[in-house]
Amino acid sequence: MTATAAIAGYPRWREVLEARWRDRLSEVTELSLAFHDAAAAAPDRMLAQPESGLRRLMDEAISARKALADTDEALARLAAGRFGRCEQCAAAIPPGSLHRQPEERYCPRCADDGALAVTP
Ligand SMILES: [Zn+2]
Repeated sequence: MTATAAIAGYPRWREVLEARWRDRLSEVTELSLAFHDAAAAAPDRMLAQPESGLRRLMDEAISARKALADTDEALARLAAGRFGRCEQCAAAIPPGSLHRQPEERYCPRCADDGALAVTP
């Protein structure tokens, strides 16, 4: 038993987040490599076409990087002892929300707040 194990759920959340981080990292790697391969083979003008597979690959790679960054930040909050607390009001985020989305950073009340409702 380490001192950090005293924080409820700490060891499990770290495992969950690290597993997600690894999954997201390989997704970023695969999408980025696929994009660069496709981009190297395609003419420049294809990048500007919204319907092209190249554009879709680029968008997917960007989303995957954002998701990886979200998990990274959740791991940083865990290390800092702020995981599971709302970043806006410091209220506890319900376990159900964290199970659905371990990267959740706001409690339901703040997440419903118009100012924060900018999730893509
Ligand atoms: Zn809140």
